[in-house]
Amino acid sequence: MAELGFPNRFQQWVLACVKTVSYSIIINGEPSEPFPAAKGLRQGDPMCPFLFAIAMEYLSRCLNGLKKERGFKYHLRCSKIGITHLSFADDLLLLGDVTSITHLLQCLNHFYGASGLRANQEKSSIFFGGVTHLASEEIVHKFGYPSGELPVKYLGVPLSTKKMSIAQWQPLIEKMVARISLWTGKKLSYAGRIYKVPKTIEAYCRSYVWSGENVITRRSLAAWDKICTPKSAGGLNIINLKVWNIAASTKNYWNLANKGDKMWIKWIHAYYIKGRQISDMPIPQQASWLVRKVVEARSLVEAIQIQTKNNRSIIRQIYYKLVGQLPRMDWKVFMFGNDARAKAKFTMWLYIQDRMMTSDRLARWGMQVDTKCVLCQSCDESRNHMFVECEFARSMWKRLLKWIQRRTFWATSWDQHWKWEIENAKGKSSRASVFKMVYAEAIHTIWNERNLRIFEKQSREAEELARNVACVCNVRATTQTRILMQQLRF
Ligand SMILES: [Zn+2]
Repeated sequence: MAELGFPNRFQQWVLACVKTVSYSIIINGEPSEPFPAAKGLRQGDPMCPFLFAIAMEYLSRCLNGLKKERGFKYHLRCSKIGITHLSFADDLLLLGDVTSITHLLQCLNHFYGASGLRANQEKSSIFFGGVTHLASEEIVHKFGYPSGELPVKYLGVPLSTKKMSIAQWQPLIEKMVARISLWTGKKLSYAGRIYKVPKTIEAYCRSYVWSGENVITRRSLAAWDKICTPKSAGGLNIINLKVWNIAASTKNYWNLANKGDKMWIKWIHAYYIKGRQISDMPIPQQASWLVRKVVEARSLVEAIQIQTKNNRSIIRQIYYKLVGQLPRMDWKVFMFGNDARAKAKFTMWLYIQDRMMTSDRLARWGMQVDTKCVLCQSCDESRNHMFVECEFARSMWKRLLKWIQRRTFWATSWDQHWKWEIENAKGKSSRASVFKMVYAEAIHTIWNERNLRIFEKQSREAEELARNVACVCNVRATTQTRILMQQLRF
């Protein structure tokens, strides 16, 4: 700190903080006798990150000083912007020519002498590029650090010079599957051949949505592409990974063209762009895969007007431009601002598109099923019957509509019924919000009742189900709808 020019008094303060503090450890839930911090700072001390930043600044300045030293040679493609090292928190990358390793290590040793901080021999490695095997072995022998292999993980991200192979991406996929396994509570198992990374991850996500399991299955009730469209277009607004990936590399290109102050951008400018126009220069073939991908993304940027003023992230802006304007569904009103439970909304989403596994559809697929409606036992089961025409559903609707003070409306056709629903759900009023929520919860409840009757041989009355819906809605109501809900008496 003295060398960095901190005032003496300030140094005394810091030392007092470090030396006079005492620690107490929680053992079996009880704090132990406090003991003095004889050996200085401990990990987890709130002062730690600040002092560490000061120490690293000192090292950083030492390393920058190397540039002036005779005999120091930059690493390949580092001289133009003078890179000797990259550091982030306690991760440090030292870059230099083979002949300069001695200089770099001298710096580290000097830093050790001044601060007492030493690089962890076991966690450090030397990476070679374009060095003969013999020379690299000699260096490893001389300095005692093991030699490493690319890709290496730096700041949690694999670092590689080439396009990564599927095998190298495997840890990422395993992590995703582990996350899904946490949700499903099942043991890990990896199924299916791996083709492409986003495709594989998507397959796991898709299977999880439809089967709740952590293995890839083919079962699904609606196309994944459909699910990935925005809610206004009738989807569930799940991110389409492939498109998101394109949007992310396009954002990098946008940064390259617009933000000059970042180090990686300065570097690409210094070595590949060299004062040319990025928009029409040839794609540098000798550059790494990553750099080429970023420059290739330029064709998309020109077509997209990116707004920097609003708070929307740039990737998101590009993503929605790539998704494009899809036709809006009139029933989108049911999916927005609906306080119903997510599972109820999902059931309603399938219901609206007639994607439920009702007996008429199962029979159409050639399955042997009992086609009678289990709710009324008098007609064949279909979506239109079960939720609109069925006597059981009607008595439930009647009860619920009375509760939310709406006139009962008996449609003669599905289209007529549907038009009426949308009319009621339109707009931002509390009345419309309550209607939407009740609607989704009622659909979900009817569907559950149907399944209980078929698979568990249990049945409940319409009145009881309507009461359940009212209970759930009362709990789910948000501030906007609560006032209205409190006025309603079931
Ligand atoms: Zn029926």
